[in-house]
Amino acid sequence: MRIDLHTHSTASDGTDTPAELVRAAAAAGLDVLALTDHDTTGGWAEAVEALPRGLTLLRGAELSCVSLPDPPGTGLPDRPGAGLSDRPGAGPPDRPRADLPDRPRAGLLDRPGAGLSEPRGASARPVTLHLLAYLFDPGDPAFVAERRRLRESRLDRGRRIVELLAADGYPVDWPEVRELAAGGAVGRPHIARALVRAGVVSTVDEAFGRLLRTGSPYYVPKADIEVLAAIRMVRAAGGVPVFAHPLARRRDRVVSDEVIRAMAAAGLAGLEADHPDQDPADREHLRGLATELGLFVTGSSDYHGTNKVVRLGQETTSVAACERLVEQATGLALITG
Ligand code: AMP
Ligand code: FE
Ligand code: FE
Ligand code: ZN
Repeated sequence: MRIDLHTHSTASDGTDTPAELVRAAAAAGLDVLALTDHDTTGGWAEAVEALPRGLTLLRGAELSCVSLPDPPGTGLPDRPGAGLSDRPGAGPPDRPRADLPDRPRAGLLDRPGAGLSEPRGASARPVTLHLLAYLFDPGDPAFVAERRRLRESRLDRGRRIVELLAADGYPVDWPEVRELAAGGAVGRPHIARALVRAGVVSTVDEAFGRLLRTGSPYYVPKADIEVLAAIRMVRAAGGVPVFAHPLARRRDRVVSDEVIRAMAAAGLAGLEADHPDQDPADREHLRGLATELGLFVTGSSDYHGTNKVVRLGQETTSVAACERLVEQATGLALITG
């Protein structure tokens, strides 16, 4: 049984359409596949429609989150969906606006170069992290509103990145990036592909390394959701939350074990230990944490088509872990083609 629980389609920043993705999964010998596009369920219907015989689909999504630099467990929202859709990085209503992730540096981020000198201590910008959500009720109103807010934030932020690049003479424009995203959730990989097309860089990976990485002068944060609130929101919608690539250090700073403990206390179900961006020592560390916290561990490729070099099924999840995941879900059932 081969199980890959984290993949992307053209509904976000993958390059296979949902139909192409499920066919490629069957051709790669997978038995179970999860479709987890960033901040959207927009690829689900096409994937279900095209599901090859014998392939089981878990419908999911990957949410863009932040971990605020507060001590874990203090002053964070304690109700599912509390104030999630009204403002960026929303915390409880009494939270001072200045603590919100997009605020303290809002002025600094207006000009290129600012990100390079920012402090790296506990008071630095919030750590961004990704939360996989599986088998949630797609109609849950708080979650619907939050996914919409996250996608809209991707538009504003994508346009700002393109404006910063264009102002420095890089030949990219926003309509072209929108076209590359083809109506899906816009991400930096679409901007990276526009840079490849324009001949500025030769690969998507080089575009990230030189221009789009977190901390680059052209990096602009999105208005992500506070991660403990996101975990509660996913559970409230009957879904199962799993921390995606918790120690993917090559992308950005990572959160501490204390934050992972706070996430477990908030309802986290699993940790993605086997992921292409995590080395063997970090994978072992995550297995240890999972045992300590009563979480299951998953393994997944995080396939993005030609936007990344990973193969479908490059990393896989055990049947036992997948069963633990599915038995916790109350939002949706599996679908087998
Ligand atoms: P965004 O969601 O717009 O912040 O962009 C983050 C996405 O970029 C991740 O989900 C990955 O799909 C992709 N990504 C990050 N680093 C790289 C890289 N070095 N090469 C290719 N894709 C990357
Ligand atoms: Fe992605
Ligand atoms: Fe991710
Ligand atoms: Zn992903």
